[in-house]
Amino acid sequence: MASNKKIIVGNWKMNLNVQEASLYLHRLSKIIEIRRDVEVILAPTTLTLQSLSLQVNGRQFKLAAQNFYWRDHGSYTGEVSATQLRGIVQYGLVGHSERRHIFNESDKDIRNKVEAAVRNNIRPILCVGETAWERANGETYDVLHDQLVGGLANITSDELSRVMIAYEPVWAVGTGQNALPTYVSAAVSAIRNQIEQLYGKIAADSIQVLYGGSVTAHSAADYLALPGIDGLLIGGASLNADSFGEIVRKAHRGSLIVERK
Ligand code: PEP
Repeated sequence: MASNKKIIVGNWKMNLNVQEASLYLHRLSKIIEIRRDVEVILAPTTLTLQSLSLQVNGRQFKLAAQNFYWRDHGSYTGEVSATQLRGIVQYGLVGHSERRHIFNESDKDIRNKVEAAVRNNIRPILCVGETAWERANGETYDVLHDQLVGGLANITSDELSRVMIAYEPVWAVGTGQNALPTYVSAAVSAIRNQIEQLYGKIAADSIQVLYGGSVTAHSAADYLALPGIDGLLIGGASLNADSFGEIVRKAHRGSLIVERK
């Protein structure tokens, strides 16, 4: 089940230019303490990754790409590959709901990106989750099944240890709608069951699963306390240093024990 280490990912989406991102990283570095039991991953826009990689203290923050193309090189105008990001980021988001639904990324695109990330020594964070319509029609678990099977199709058992999953119900991402912790728990169990079917029990127990969907400093502890949740993927609230710092503090083991009492 969930490991002792909690993971907090901040997805800055298409916000902050190079200078703003640098100032914001500087501010976060003053607020967020280095803790062995919390890993903080920042996902700024691609444009800022190179300069932030030179500024960042790698013990304090890891970097993630929000997106990349799955081919390594070639005539793909406007794209950036995982090969080019290698050495700059440690993680890459893949299949974020905004990529799936605004940019029409298919499970085939997504599985190629998961594979490209692993090939380039970048840990993919595969995002899965149902839309409001799919939820209303009782299709949540079918969607999770299809997105996991589709997204992981090129990944071997050995490679799976490099992959992280983020459960992000689309209706909760950027909407301010909170999923009930019981609902999240059931979906995360379904995800682990699916991983067990594909890769076996050890893989299902050890894969890291995050939750994301309008999580704030106020709601973070409730989700972090759920069995089977290894951390959080934070969008909106990661753009406010105080809120993000508060979420990271809540992920620290000592705070979790206090909050659970
Ligand atoms: C996200 O961007 O993955 C996300 C969960 O956003 P928000 O926290 O704003 O819902």
